[in-house]
Amino acid sequence: MTIFQKREHSVFLCEIDGSYAIYNPLTFQLVFSQNPDFGRCYLQSQGKMALENIVSTEREKFSGQKIHVLSIIPTFACNNRCGYCSLRHTPSHIYPLSMEISQAKQAIDLFFEWSDPAATKEIMIFGGEPLCNLPVTKAVIEYGKQKNDCSISLFTNGTMIDDETARVFGRFDVNVIVSIDGGEKEHNQARPLSDGVGSYQRAVRGYLRAKESGCSMGISMQIGRHNVHSFSESLNELYCLLEPERISIGSNFHPLHGGVKNPFQVDTLKATSLLLDIFYQYKEKGICIEQVDRRIRPFVAENYRGKDCAGCGQKIVALPDGRLGFCEYLAYPGEAYMPADQFSPDSMDYKKYCRISPLFKDECLECPAISICGGGCFYNALMFNGSVTGPDILNCEQTLYILEWMVKKLWDNLKYKLQHKNVHLVTQREKESILGTFDPTQKVFSCNNGFSKIAE
Ligand code: SF4
Ligand code: SF4
Repeated sequence: MTIFQKREHSVFLCEIDGSYAIYNPLTFQLVFSQNPDFGRCYLQSQGKMALENIVSTEREKFSGQKIHVLSIIPTFACNNRCGYCSLRHTPSHIYPLSMEISQAKQAIDLFFEWSDPAATKEIMIFGGEPLCNLPVTKAVIEYGKQKNDCSISLFTNGTMIDDETARVFGRFDVNVIVSIDGGEKEHNQARPLSDGVGSYQRAVRGYLRAKESGCSMGISMQIGRHNVHSFSESLNELYCLLEPERISIGSNFHPLHGGVKNPFQVDTLKATSLLLDIFYQYKEKGICIEQVDRRIRPFVAENYRGKDCAGCGQKIVALPDGRLGFCEYLAYPGEAYMPADQFSPDSMDYKKYCRISPLFKDECLECPAISICGGGCFYNALMFNGSVTGPDILNCEQTLYILEWMVKKLWDNLKYKLQHKNVHLVTQREKESILGTFDPTQKVFSCNNGFSKIAE
């Protein structure tokens, strides 16, 4: 199958097995035809003006989003030395700042003042390793729950969860997400403790303690050069051992400084193909792998995905030194961070980040994936291109691959329709029966590289 070529008025064309797929991403209309001109005529009932109206309506929808997530970083310190951590060699990470309880409370107060009263709110606790600053981690949980019965998620390497800490998490109904990368051998290759010993046994013990205390549990995994050769087997093993309620699987590692490719990064297309297989296996078990769901769901539901990252207007991040910004990883270069008393959702910075979306980028208007692509990670874009508004190229490769994979799967199942007619317009019902149904009310736990939760 060849890649889509742009034709006029947002119409894209690609050849498959001697026939053609013609697709308009702005309307989600997909046509199969033996003759590309018939197919194109079919889609051109939408004039240029109508398409421009669609873009401006979607832009308005996605630029007017409200804050509903607070990410607190109690410390930059970490007891692990993961090989793929892009932050280990940055100056601020070497200097392990820790937050004060008063700073954490101030961030929580401001968050509830600024966030959308109607929205479901979430506090995420992130790091470094948050348990390296246990007093603040506990204070965030207690104070956050006392102020508002919001959901609280903790992202941890799991190695420091003892019985007492696990009981606190259980008592306050914390969602605990532990980073584990597969079986012991694979995990230990990438995720040693600071003394060089593998962290797998400690991570699993910590996970099980939190689970026994009644926490809702998830695992966060990365597909990389350390585990790609046996990823499905490792995942199945881990799933049987830990029985998580949620699984996040990232495959796009943050680049290192200067845009240098992360040494653990594997070929994006190979990793994505693996993810697609896993996605359908685990969908049957009731587990949603969000990194794939985020692309297939909008295509099937014909509903735009304007943003992947909650840092584009829905999230604020509190640093250990009390400053506020939008992205955990931008904390390290310190970009777009302000002291708490100067930060405001009316600021120009906030407005700029609200408009980070493919919908606002001219080059994305030339892309067939525009309506299913949330743009990936703007920190990656900064590392690759020197600008948060540039493309996250790993995300582009992955998204285009999934789009073409969906079109090919639809073609394989529907090509028989062209036996008796020249053109077939793919219906939404056909998309559902071939690519799967997606419950619009299902709560999808959304993790990007930086674990950002985003509201649809
Ligand atoms: S970010 Fe990349 S994949 Fe997404 S719409 Fe833009 S060019 Fe296409
Ligand atoms: S997804 Fe990327 S840009 Fe968004 S918060 Fe995470 S690291 Fe930052």
